[in-house]
Amino acid sequence: MEKIVLASNNEHKIKEFKEILKNFEIITMKEVGFYDDIVEDGTTFEENSEIKADAILKFLKSKKLNYMVMADDSGLCVNALNGAPGVYSARYAQVHNDQANRDKLLENLKNAKDRSAYFMCVITLKKPDGTKIVGKGKVDGIILEKETGNTSFGYDCLFYSNELKKCFGLCTDKEKNSVSHRGRAIQDLLSKLN
Ligand code: IMP
Repeated sequence: MEKIVLASNNEHKIKEFKEILKNFEIITMKEVGFYDDIVEDGTTFEENSEIKADAILKFLKSKKLNYMVMADDSGLCVNALNGAPGVYSARYAQVHNDQANRDKLLENLKNAKDRSAYFMCVITLKKPDGTKIVGKGKVDGIILEKETGNTSFGYDCLFYSNELKKCFGLCTDKEKNSVSHRGRAIQDLLSKLN
């Protein structure tokens, strides 16, 4: 089975990637011994996903490991907030705290009539020779007025999917992966691989 090193320490993301990419052996950054903090100072999802992929690729090369690297950058874009939190989704409330981020989002949308939003995901795959393939995915929805269901991952419990007619916080992994930004970005990427 072909190996892919996933540039993420987020256990929710790792689980989603493993479930969708069943034909690959997914290895985490920790499993290859990479513990550094990657500074994500890009201004777009695409830039940040490439920064993460390059950091891991450089590390793998220094260890003479010829694995592919996959890095995603994702976030929630709210139309009434001009696309915020966007690339700053993880640290919207200055610290990486999902509850604080959701509280800030609800506060900022208190008087909003338009609660439409979308999750966006960009995945950069780099092969050992530096070849780059990019996959993109988007899912549209509405920001609910209160948290619904599972509160463990980011903004899931506030995001109502237009397609599933259900909050992501109430979805099974399979339901969410079938429409999610990450599921779609992976499918887009796979269609370009080979
Ligand atoms: P990243 O790790 O820099 O890509 O940060 C992405 C952030 O966006 C996460 O920490 C979450 O707050 C949010 N996010 C991205 N994808 C999802 C998702 O599928 N569900 C809930 N929140 C998400």
